[in-house]
Amino acid sequence: MAEAKQRLHQPVFRATVIRAYGMRCAVCALGHGELLDAAHIVPDSHEAGIASVRNGLALCKIHHAAFDTHILGITPDLVVEIRQDLLAEIDGSMLQHGLKERHGEMLMVPPGLRNEQPDRKLLEMTYQRFLSAG
Ligand SMILES: [Zn+2]
Repeated sequence: MAEAKQRLHQPVFRATVIRAYGMRCAVCALGHGELLDAAHIVPDSHEAGIASVRNGLALCKIHHAAFDTHILGITPDLVVEIRQDLLAEIDGSMLQHGLKERHGEMLMVPPGLRNEQPDRKLLEMTYQRFLSAG
């Protein structure tokens, strides 16, 4: 039952979130729809993980995976943080430009409308998980 409801809402959730961010990744501003996902701030498996634009972020595939695995965190003030061990690592340009250089920076693309801003409480919940994962 819950699963059927969730599927029904996914395309609407995706369209709403991607539009709210002007079809760009919130972290790096990549603007190719094929490479963008509507990420849940709190996973939809969680009770608080509602399919609302306020629980969503438009993220490119790499930043979505990094966010879901707690390699990348976003503070309630919309500042990007990268897990400490990755910051110490030296590797190619994806690590350098795609992840390490975003550390301590604001989201490049915040949503334009105030009522579509990510919910601070939901960001806080996931940010705490990022901190405990690091
Ligand atoms: Zn990105």
